[in-house]
Amino acid sequence: MFDYIIVGAGFAGSVMAERIAGVINGKVLVIEKRAHIGGNAYDRYDAKGILVHQYGPHIFHTKMQHVWDYLSRFTGWHLYHHRVLGSVDGQKVPIPFNLNTLHALMPKETAERLESKLVKSFGCNAKIPILRLRESADEDLKELANFVYEKFFLHYTTKQWGVSPEELNPYVTGRVPIYVSKDDRYFQDRYQGIPEEGYTKIFERMLGHPNIKLLLNTDYKEVLDVDPESGAIRAFGRSFDGKLIFTGKIDEMFDYRLGELPYRSLHFAFETLDRDSFQETGTVNYPNEYDFTRITEFKRLTGQESRYTTIVKEYPQAYERHTPGKDIPYYPVPNSANQDLYAEYRQLAKKLEQVIFLGRLAEYTYYDMDAVISKALKVFEEQILQDKE
Ligand code: FAD
Ligand code: UDP
Repeated sequence: MFDYIIVGAGFAGSVMAERIAGVINGKVLVIEKRAHIGGNAYDRYDAKGILVHQYGPHIFHTKMQHVWDYLSRFTGWHLYHHRVLGSVDGQKVPIPFNLNTLHALMPKETAERLESKLVKSFGCNAKIPILRLRESADEDLKELANFVYEKFFLHYTTKQWGVSPEELNPYVTGRVPIYVSKDDRYFQDRYQGIPEEGYTKIFERMLGHPNIKLLLNTDYKEVLDVDPESGAIRAFGRSFDGKLIFTGKIDEMFDYRLGELPYRSLHFAFETLDRDSFQETGTVNYPNEYDFTRITEFKRLTGQESRYTTIVKEYPQAYERHTPGKDIPYYPVPNSANQDLYAEYRQLAKKLEQVIFLGRLAEYTYYDMDAVISKALKVFEEQILQDKE
């Protein structure tokens, strides 16, 4: 019946389905345990008609023209450049910490001295991860680094991850580097925006091909059986010899036999307010106050107009796969012990010759949307298309 089975209807699964159906005319079954497509990029209209991102604010940004061009086949764009303010010492200042932030928080003379030291040491437009700036030999820069670390990173990271910045791969805090610039945007990527009609529409279009069948509300374990030793796959009780593209958790595929890969989860608290605006920018971060990390106001991302506005507060929490409300694995936790455990699962995965592991969960990688799309396009070219030719 099907040449390919895909588990998961997020970006990884949907791009693969679209390519397989559209380019090689393959017959595809997509199995998704949620009641909707889109994975964590899913958006929907709430009771007051505001378009919200159900699993947290998603801003599309990329340096990769081929990814932008590919996605633009399925959507037009609301041109949007994300700006974030941080509530620090009673002020709202730009994040990432940049030269404007420096001038807002320091007396004029100090700010000027530090600015010229930053420019001299790193150059204009340099982006410096906080953990690197802390290693500065210059006493002034070291002091600045300690200030930024304490006011912007330490408490936010402890809330978000439950551990300090040093206990995570430096990549994590390096995503939001100190920026030697007056550009207040969160991302400097050439291509950025919010899909004009929302993300879910993109997925509807990707999965709308007549060769693609979609099975929602179904955990793959209900209909598939993958033998971890022989690699043999049974689908709906019959032997399946096509390819399985798996975008769920890699440890789940092996029944957690080496132990669970840790994740961080979130609780999203949505509030719809009877006023047309709530805050100055799309997102305001609260590194040092409250139990939530940030508040996002959706209308500021989407450009939607309404007399109401909806905001979401993000409360980080431990991931517990058996506890409703805490059972969504939002973030893999990047540190070396977890990477080692993941590498062991990859060893087991080698036996599953029909299975391709792809995406944030299957590759246990802190991917942004563009990176997942780029990876899926590459895997399609190298492992599906070339196989066919
Ligand atoms: P997912 O979107 O997680 O899709 C996997 C799918 O597999 C899910 O639908 C899941 O239900 C399904 N599945 C899992 N297990 C099973 C099973 N056993 N049976 C059947 N189905 C299963 N990226 C950006 O580029 N910009 C942003 O601003 C941004 N903001 C984010 C904010 C938050 C709070 C989070 C958590 C992520 C954010 N991301 C952002 C990252 C983005 O969500 C991911 O890059 C993207 O969703 C990954 O796609 P994916 O298909 O790999 O995974
Ligand atoms: N971070 C921080 N303070 C901030 C913003 C980010 O400490 O004000 C750190 C924190 O550890 C966070 C990481 O940088 O998890 C990456 O931030 P990003 O905004 O990229 O996270 P995401 O949007 O993926 O949740």
